[in-house]
Amino acid sequence: MKILKFGGTSVGSAERMRAVAELIHDDQPKIVVLSAVSGTTNKLVALADSLLQGKREQATAQLGELEKEYRKFVDELLPSAFYQRRAEMVLSTIWDQIRSLTQKEFIPSYEKVILAQGELISTELFHLYLESQSVPSRLLPALDFMRTDEQGDPDLSYILEELEHLLSDRTGVPYFITQGYICRNCNGEIDNLQRGGSDYSATLIGAALEADEIQIWTDIDGIHNNDPRIVDKTFPLRKVSYREAAELAYFGAKILHPTCVIPAEQAQVPIRLKNTFAPEAPGTLISSEGSGRSITAIAAKDGVTAIKIRSGRMMNAYGFLRQVFSVFEQFQTPIDMITTSEVAVSLTIDNNTYLDAIIGALEPFGEVSYETEQTIICIVGDHLHRQTGFTRDIFDALEDIPLRMVSYGGSNNNLSILVASSYKKLALKSLNAQLFGQRLSVGEHV
Ligand code: ASP
Ligand code: MG
Repeated sequence: MKILKFGGTSVGSAERMRAVAELIHDDQPKIVVLSAVSGTTNKLVALADSLLQGKREQATAQLGELEKEYRKFVDELLPSAFYQRRAEMVLSTIWDQIRSLTQKEFIPSYEKVILAQGELISTELFHLYLESQSVPSRLLPALDFMRTDEQGDPDLSYILEELEHLLSDRTGVPYFITQGYICRNCNGEIDNLQRGGSDYSATLIGAALEADEIQIWTDIDGIHNNDPRIVDKTFPLRKVSYREAAELAYFGAKILHPTCVIPAEQAQVPIRLKNTFAPEAPGTLISSEGSGRSITAIAAKDGVTAIKIRSGRMMNAYGFLRQVFSVFEQFQTPIDMITTSEVAVSLTIDNNTYLDAIIGALEPFGEVSYETEQTIICIVGDHLHRQTGFTRDIFDALEDIPLRMVSYGGSNNNLSILVASSYKKLALKSLNAQLFGQRLSVGEHV
């Protein structure tokens, strides 16, 4: 059994959806996980936001826009009057549900219900299209098996149990279609796995079922060695390890949801990244086998704030860092990078919601300062700890750039450097030239 996940742009139009149907139709058993049509989740977020602000008329207008968009989508996807009617029936139930929420006093759980509709729509329409083409498939409702526990973590044993039950009779059905992103929480309420979470749905299903392979289909030829939007000569990587992929996803490579690698690694199921627009391209295979390259790739994460706490009390003391970290715990703000000296500690966060409160709570511990608009440049490699010489190349490349923080040794795969965001482009380009430039040309695979 394989799991194939298609992202929003891969099902972004009737034409794209038809292309996906063609891609999956090879008589091999599979579970197809779909995102919402690209743009839909953002629109649902905006609609829920209007309701949150009490702007009901605005929300109704936003709903009207969505209805119009999907009328066009259905027209293009399903030419036959019979299937158009079926699609209209499915969609009108969804619109009615959203409309009913716009008429009630808004409570936060409604937002989750609204956000879930994007994936419900895309899977229903895809399923109808397959049926219209006489391709046998069955809908596998994610809300019947995808669940998180009290901690908000996926409940793998429940997921497996329910999936096995739902899949127990597979006679005559090669393809199962399910929603990415959406789930229920431990109280059985509709919830989601955070934005971009469809990748996570796919790897959770793949891990639970110990699938042969999890394929994530996007609009790019796999993980590139650098950000192709900024650097000219990038190339897709043929293979990377789970660890390398996780670091790259966390530190800015937009292609993959950061936590989605974990279940696949635990179950040792390979993930293959593929391009819907170029299905014959080999893509990237993520498995326990590393890239075999000294430096695999460079990624950058923007919107980072560096916070420095300077205190004589830190010298030779224990418990100081615990106190500092407890502030971040209190404000539920994850820390990304940390560097310390004997009298100061610097750390970074990427969520400034509670920045002022955090700074206030840190002040009793010492002199606190912070800088926003920083970027983490993350250099990922295979077994960096066994290599020599690579740091010289990195620092040579960054010679003209002031470095705010450097973090190395936290894992064997990553060296991270914090720079002001204004230096990001220069840093990525210089590193690319120094680390990859001489050896490779555009489009070359490794
Ligand atoms: N539709 C959701 C989002 O836009 C989930 C996903 O696409 O992965 O975030
Ligand atoms: Mg995505």
